[in-house]
Amino acid sequence: MPVRQLYQHQRVQGVKVGRFNHGINTQFIVYRMGSTVIDAGPSNQWRHVAKFLKKEPVKQLLLTHHHEDHSGNAQRIAKLFSITPKAPKLAQAKLATGYPTPLLQKIVWGSPRPVHTRNLADTEFLEDATKVIPVHTPGHAKDLTCFHVPSEGYFFSGDLYIAKTIKMLRKDEDLIELINSLRKVQQLDFTTLFCPHGGIIQDGKQALQLKLNNILQLCSEVKELAEKGWPIDQIAQYLLGPEDATAKLTNGNFSKTNLIKQCALMNL
Ligand SMILES: [Zn+2]
Repeated sequence: MPVRQLYQHQRVQGVKVGRFNHGINTQFIVYRMGSTVIDAGPSNQWRHVAKFLKKEPVKQLLLTHHHEDHSGNAQRIAKLFSITPKAPKLAQAKLATGYPTPLLQKIVWGSPRPVHTRNLADTEFLEDATKVIPVHTPGHAKDLTCFHVPSEGYFFSGDLYIAKTIKMLRKDEDLIELINSLRKVQQLDFTTLFCPHGGIIQDGKQALQLKLNNILQLCSEVKELAEKGWPIDQIAQYLLGPEDATAKLTNGNFSKTNLIKQCALMNL
């Protein structure tokens, strides 16, 4: 069954969309603050995203990273509102040409559509001159950039948060960078986290700290077992349980074993 839900938190509105209702990995929330939209949502949900966006004029689209659930509708939003979306520099080449995605992701999100974007400035602004600061937070993806709105205590987290624990990692994710990014954002002043998968989290900074603590805890457990000579797949099975269907459907690209491998390499 598809997912639809509207959100309103102070100055922020959102719409949750998704072709399937299987929790955080198949649902996406497009947020807006007035005429500024954060991330474009998956292309197979365009009809519902468009309905939400058409309620008020859109003058600006800011993208957190190139992944298709975040950027899928950027081309259509650009056309509909005659704007050029802004994206992290590292995302722009992939966004401009489009890129292939695995079958499972195609089914869940649809395919990304090529879109021309402009660079994010060091400081962006809402229509009323409220400052929006892009914060580069690699790990989940090289280009991932969150958006901090200091005056409101808001943090739009892209895919930095998603959930308080991680049980799987994609092959292209970098755990060391993720840990560094989670540490970096603890230096910022914010309370409310806007996660496109997990929703609105009131104690957002603590939630990110908890995620960091949970990763470090997992790493130390993995290292202890690895030093005793346990093989990676056995550690994964012992600490996280057997691989589920996702690992098989993605040919091991998104798996518990990937996470445990990177934990074992960590220099704590
Ligand atoms: Zn992503």
